[in-house]
Amino acid sequence: MSLLSVVIPAYNEEAMLPRTVSALTSILESAEIGFELVFVDDGSRDRTWERIQEAAQADPRIHGIRFSRNFGKESAIFAGLAGARGDCAAVMDCDLQHPPATLIEMYRLWEQGYEVVEAVKRTRGEESLFHKVCSGLFYRIMTKAVGFDMSRASDFKLLDRRAVEALLDIPEKRAFFRALSSWIGYRQASVEFDVQEREAGESKWSTWALIRYAVTNITGYSTAPMLLVMWAGVIVFAIDVILAIQTLLRYRAGTAVEGFTTVILLLLFLGSIIMISLGIIGYYIARIYQEVQGRPRYIISRSI
Ligand code: UDP
Ligand code: MG
Repeated sequence: MSLLSVVIPAYNEEAMLPRTVSALTSILESAEIGFELVFVDDGSRDRTWERIQEAAQADPRIHGIRFSRNFGKESAIFAGLAGARGDCAAVMDCDLQHPPATLIEMYRLWEQGYEVVEAVKRTRGEESLFHKVCSGLFYRIMTKAVGFDMSRASDFKLLDRRAVEALLDIPEKRAFFRALSSWIGYRQASVEFDVQEREAGESKWSTWALIRYAVTNITGYSTAPMLLVMWAGVIVFAIDVILAIQTLLRYRAGTAVEGFTTVILLLLFLGSIIMISLGIIGYYIARIYQEVQGRPRYIISRSI
């Protein structure tokens, strides 16, 4: 019988963990799927690790990995995949916003030979307007950068062992699981699901965290911002030529613009364009620096 590993990143999920365990165990047992649950405690500050230990002691099919601190959901996903021993591995959230019933559907597609099964959001669930606008913009940019539709993508995926190995072979430290798992190719299929309400605990994402996440992932897949710098330079140069000609003509005609106003405006304009451009280039250099440093994606402190 084949084995399904379910990788579940958990950060401060003490309230949800026992529910997630029982929901998954009962549905997978009734579907007669052989499984293991791999919980990755992403440096929680509550009793998540204790809950994982209790669950693991009660059921040998449950495993836990604990990070030495909070490394973020992406790292947790990769650690879980590295620890998974199944013939296929699914990734899902610990808050049951990804319905376990969809997991069964995905598993059946895997049995039919699909190697990357993605669950796409039919609806996005409850979100504020600001959140909707920002995520809409983010996914439009990402779709352009990655080259395939990301607007309804989620981290809820099921991967064949081959796809898991391919992902783990990618040395990129700041990997974006959602995009990378489509990028690797293989036979892909998708199912739709409705994002459920979170039953307990709270969302771990602040607005700032989401903005940082968006910038990291866009720059991870696109160098368009750097081209923007070049285009800004071209446009400013064109304006410069026109202004230079005008200035010279006026000088000859004896009606040269006088005074500091023009100089101040030009200085401010050029100064800010230059600094923004340096910032963009600096950001990419910082990313190169981080990758070159080669620090690991995560550090594991305990496992069970
Ligand atoms: N998560 C994590 N590390 C983090 C933040 C979140 O492992 O730093 C996990 C969290 O426990 C949950 C999943 O990622 O299982 C999704 O998080 P959340 O529900 O807070 O995000 P949302 O559903 O609001 O996008
Ligand atoms: Mg959630």
